[in-house]
This record gives sequence, C-alpha cells and structure tokens, in this order.
Amino acid sequence: MIDQVEKGLLIAGRWRPAAEGETFVVENPATGQALCEVADATPADALAALDAADAAQRRWAAVPPRGRGDVLRRAHDLLIERIDEFARLITLEMGKSLAESRAEVTYGARYLRWFGEEAVRIDGTWKVSEDGTARVLVTRQPVGPCLLITPWNAPLAMPARKIGPAIAAGCTMVVKPAAQTPLTTAALAEVLREAGLPDGVLNVIPTTRAAAVTEPLLRDGRLRKLSFTGSTPVGRLLMAQAAGTVLRTSMELGGNAPFIVCQDADVDAAVEGAMTAKLRNMGEACIAANRFLVHADVAEDFSQKLVVRMGSITVGDGTDPEVDMGPLVDERQRRRVADLVDETVASGARLRAGGVVPSGPGYFYPPTVLTEVPAVARITQEEIFGPVAAIRVFTSEAEALREANNTEFGLVSYLYTQDLKRALHMTEELETGMIGLNRGYVSDPSAPFGGMKQSGVGREGGNTGIDEYLEQKYVAIDAG
Ligand code: NAD
Repeated sequence: MIDQVEKGLLIAGRWRPAAEGETFVVENPATGQALCEVADATPADALAALDAADAAQRRWAAVPPRGRGDVLRRAHDLLIERIDEFARLITLEMGKSLAESRAEVTYGARYLRWFGEEAVRIDGTWKVSEDGTARVLVTRQPVGPCLLITPWNAPLAMPARKIGPAIAAGCTMVVKPAAQTPLTTAALAEVLREAGLPDGVLNVIPTTRAAAVTEPLLRDGRLRKLSFTGSTPVGRLLMAQAAGTVLRTSMELGGNAPFIVCQDADVDAAVEGAMTAKLRNMGEACIAANRFLVHADVAEDFSQKLVVRMGSITVGDGTDPEVDMGPLVDERQRRRVADLVDETVASGARLRAGGVVPSGPGYFYPPTVLTEVPAVARITQEEIFGPVAAIRVFTSEAEALREANNTEFGLVSYLYTQDLKRALHMTEELETGMIGLNRGYVSDPSAPFGGMKQSGVGREGGNTGIDEYLEQKYVAIDAG
C-alpha cells in the first residue's frame, strides 16, 4: 500500500510537493529502514493550507447536516472495507502489531460514524427572556478554520477524533500529523475525499519543522481553533501562543495513570486489565497505566502473575501475525524508556522481568516489571510511554488516593475493587477525567475523552465532543 499512499501536501484538493521541494524520510521502527520520503512543509505551505481552509469555510458550513454526516458515514464504511490495508500501513510506520492496528482502524472509524450521527443533532434553544420583554434564540454554528495537531502513537485514531467532529460541525481544517507517521493521515484524507469531502475542507501538511510551520498559523486571525494531542510541555507552549489571538483551544495532553488494586479485587481480572492498560500500544499511550498501586495483601500475588503474563508476550516485527507487541516508535523513545528503567533500578527498585535492550535492528524493548519502586523515583512522576510496569504497595485507601492524586496529570485512573462503597468513594476522590472501574480500557467514541489538571482542556467524543467545534450565537428578539 505504501506505493499508493500520497507523499505530498494536500492543499485545496491537490497533492503537491513542498514549496522548497524538500522531503523527509519515514522509517519502519521494526527494522530502522526507510519506508519512503514525504514532502516537508514550510511556513509558506502552511499559510497556503490556511488560505484553502479559509476559502472553503463558508461553502462547507452551508452544506446541510445530513450531507456532512453522510461523508463521515461513507468514510467509516470505506475504512472498514479496507481495514487490512490500513492496519498494515499503521504497523509499517508506527510499529504496533497488526491486531492492534486493526483495532485502531475500527476505533478511529467509529469516531467518524459517531460524529456523522452527531452532525444531524446540532440544536439550539428558544425561550422567553426572564422579564418577558424578549425572546432568546440560541443557535450554534461552526467555529471556522481549525488547526489539528496530532501525535504518532495512534496515527489514524488521533486525526479521526478531531477531523470527525470538525467535519460534522461544518469546520474546515489544516491537519499537521506527527513526522514519524504522516502516511496513515494521508491515506485517511484520501478516504474522506473519496467519501465526498469537497476540496479545501481538509488540508494536510506533514513537516519536520512543527514549531516554525504552526507559528504563523497561530498568529493568523483567520484561524479560529486549535485542537492538539501531544505532550504537556508542547501543549503549554501552544496555549501560550494561542493567547496571542485568544484562540479557542482543545488540549489532549500527557497522563500518569494510577492503576489501583485493592485488597478485595479479583486479582486475575486485575492482571488481565493491567496487561491491556500497560501493554496496549507498547505502553505508548496517554492512557497507559503508569503507576501500579497494589494493596499489601495482594501485592505479591498480583506481581507474580503479572510477571508470568508479561513473559508470555511475543515481541517482534508487528507485521508478523504471531507477534503480540511491536517495537517502540524510534531510538529516542527507546533510550528514554531504558534510561528511566535503569535509573529506577539504581534507586533501589527490583527488576522482576525485562529491562534489557535487545541487540539487533529495530527499536524493541521487552515487557518489564519493577517492584519495590521508591516513592520519589522519577518513574512515578513522568509518563513512561513504554511497556514498563512500576509497582508500589499501599496499606490504606487514603494512602492509595493520596499517592494516585500526587501528580500534575489527571487523565485516567484504573481501579480494581469488588466493594461497591469503596468503588463509589474512590471514583469520587480520584482527580482524573476518566476512570476504568474493573476495566483496563476506557476509550469509547460515545464517552467524553479527556483530562483534568495538566492533562488537558476539553473533551473528545461523547455528547459534548462536537461542542468543541461549535460557537454559540444568541439573538435577542424584541417582544416588548
Ligand atoms: P509531542 O508533543 O512531541 O508532539 C505532538 C505533536 O505536536 C506532533 O505532531 C509534533 O510534531 C507537534 N509538535 C511538537 N512540538 C511542537 C511545537 N513547538 N509547535 C507545534 N507543534 C509541535 O508528543 P508525541 O511525542 O508526538 O506524543 C506523545 C505525547 O502525546 C504523550 O505525552 C502522550 O501522553 C500524548 N498523547 C495524549 C493523548 C490524549 O488524548 N490526552 C493521546 C495520545 C498522546
């Protein structure tokens, strides 16, 4: 499929080279070999993409909701029809196993379908004003051209989660994919065009110069919205830039998820949940379990079982159907993870599984389990973004909650308990936007995805996801 994927910039309905003709190499993380070269957008290209989005905005907003929804529905169906091609493409440029890539295609497609259904349910209100002298008409309209910046860890689902609601709301957009994974976004754009999306509504600018290319867009008053998924430090930077034009922003940032196993938990279920919450996407997920907090009564049972399950995972090239877990995305990411593990072991933690960088090509790192992790270890405060479970023991519910909330992040928590009152109390106290209760997976198009604290602003999906792309307008009608 790589040969058929567009390698240029999509601007005003045409794939074209970058203004200065530059390209960059996309690598296969399982081999370290080049897959192909892709056009490397310049700031001038970015402005051309915004010109196109701005020019298309009025026409696109005027397309009836059913028309916008139908494009998304057709795109959903095309993705499902071509699930194997898309899965292979994701695996080649990002590394995850084919089974995981297939799951991502389905997950991303479901966002398109969900928002296609939401397009026809955008409503307003009408009421008598408080003093009766006016009628209050509230309508909602698209915010206008959006900049959508996405990470590499889910190259189809992350763009789909933004493009879906933007299309449904009637917004046009410029998409800047991560430089590691531009191919899947290009293929997704082609599917949307095939599904009937008019020229200029969706523009795509892969680049290696993210800051230089997005900066002129963020300064341009024609841009009305920024939706970003990525790390908290870059999110902070973008929010500061967005302040210049008082730009509306949605931020899906980093996480540091606690995975709490109480003394009354079903330990086997908790181990299975941990496998999903930890190893999905090789641990390269904002919602990956980062800190395992396990009650002293079940800690050894849980740790031993997790070590056994982690040991049963086959690591290798994701295109091999026998492989469970692929490589990390690049050498930089693997070095980060390996350094974090080495530092944690040096600080007194016990290495129970994995922890050794394999020799040979590709950026592989084994499933790793650490116990007796010191409270002050950096691994308890930083996103690991790798297949490493760091386990700590607690003895009281209050201690577990204190430790779980002791982080600047607030994206997701996982909680295993069979006691209803404990579950109620703890879910109320956990400072995260999402909680998996006896479940190691929370992502769902019908639910609001997003975080508290420094994990972000706004929600994607659910009944309110489309609101991020809509502006309210109120007309006061004289009735006095
Ligand atoms: P990153 O912040 O380095 O990059 C994300 C995107 O921003 C990429 O497209 C990158 O090119 C771009 N970018 C980087 N610097 C920029 C700048 N100065 N100006 C404009 N754009 C810039 O993150 P990453 O390494 O690609 O992804 C991993 C991070 O994403 C993790 O922290 C993870 O938790 C987070 N993430 C969050 C969610 C969520 O929904 N909350 C989902 C997936 C990933």
